[in-house]
Amino acid sequence: MNVPTVSLIEGDGIGPEITAATLRAVEACGGQLAWERVDAGAGAVARPGDPLPAATLASIQRNQLALKAPLATPSGGGYRSVNVTLRQHFDLYANVRPAKTIAGVPSRFTGVDLVIVRENTEDLYAGIEHYVDPRRTAAESIAIITRFGSERVIVYAFEYARRHGRRKVTLVHKANILKMSNGLFLDTGREVAKRYPDVEFEDMIVDATAMKLVIAPERFDVIVTMNLFGDILSDLAAGLIGGLGVAPAANIGDSGCAMFEAVHGTAPDIAGQGIANPSGLMLSAAMLLDHVGQPGAAQRLRAGIAAALARPETRTGDLGGKANTAQFTDAVVHSMIAGNA
Ligand code: NAD
Repeated sequence: MNVPTVSLIEGDGIGPEITAATLRAVEACGGQLAWERVDAGAGAVARPGDPLPAATLASIQRNQLALKAPLATPSGGGYRSVNVTLRQHFDLYANVRPAKTIAGVPSRFTGVDLVIVRENTEDLYAGIEHYVDPRRTAAESIAIITRFGSERVIVYAFEYARRHGRRKVTLVHKANILKMSNGLFLDTGREVAKRYPDVEFEDMIVDATAMKLVIAPERFDVIVTMNLFGDILSDLAAGLIGGLGVAPAANIGDSGCAMFEAVHGTAPDIAGQGIANPSGLMLSAAMLLDHVGQPGAAQRLRAGIAAALARPETRTGDLGGKANTAQFTDAVVHSMIAGNA
């Protein structure tokens, strides 16, 4: 069997803790992956002196696959987000974030099964900002929306819907106010939708979407939206299924390169305590296993995680449990070994 090599970024904050847990779980599920550890983020600033060393970019370029734990981004000043830079550098334009109710995980909702496809390279995240005067009395940020960037991510969402037997794509925007930038995204969506008559299409204003997501999340299927709205709505969607601790993501481009990561950040408030929930990164690793053609291992891993999440005594603190990261991971691994998963 061809064993793919994956560039592995351990990340900052809780990153190393959840990475160690995820490597154990991937080994136990029979995933055939070779790991190549590379530096990035605050840890890399301390070591090679650069938050995104050239050796890291070269490794991902060579392997075309990465598993990335969260990286800290300084707020206000400091270096630019390494997460955003990686997505832009490898042109990973589609950020796929599934949010599906997990049996047994405490949550206000049941029956949630939606996927947010977030445009990953444009919008306000293009990084074009400046102060208008030296006294910094005002600042401007420019949102870039192109027809090219809109079309490829909307096509991705429709193709994703077809591939996964999903029935509807909801395009989320604010074109009533941002008539040109968001209007362009909406117009492009209406054009693309004509090519997919088998998939239902609707558009929805972002504020109404936020409300409907918390009133009737089950009405959504695939959501496609721009970078900022996608960022916000995918955390909201994670909240619908039990929280950030259980939300995975994939960043996909046309070149074949793909990077998998949890939706959550470095959780500095609990870092170093060994109590983080590693499910988000483990479920991202399951998406990676699917991506490289190892669906059996992916399924075993998902089932092992679900079994550990279903028992109150093996849940981590974010889900109301008392288990620490290692105890949760033991439960995932034992469940797979026992064949319960
Ligand atoms: P966060 O996601 O790190 O934390 C928000 C809350 O959720 C915290 O209370 C935290 O303890 C909890 N939480 C998050 N993940 C958890 C887990 N696995 N288990 C248990 N609890 C968990 O968001 P933040 O505090 O806004 O951001 C912290 C840092 O992370 C910032 O530097 C930010 O830029 C960065 N960040 C990185 C990524 C990424 O690497 N893709 C994503 C989001 C934020």
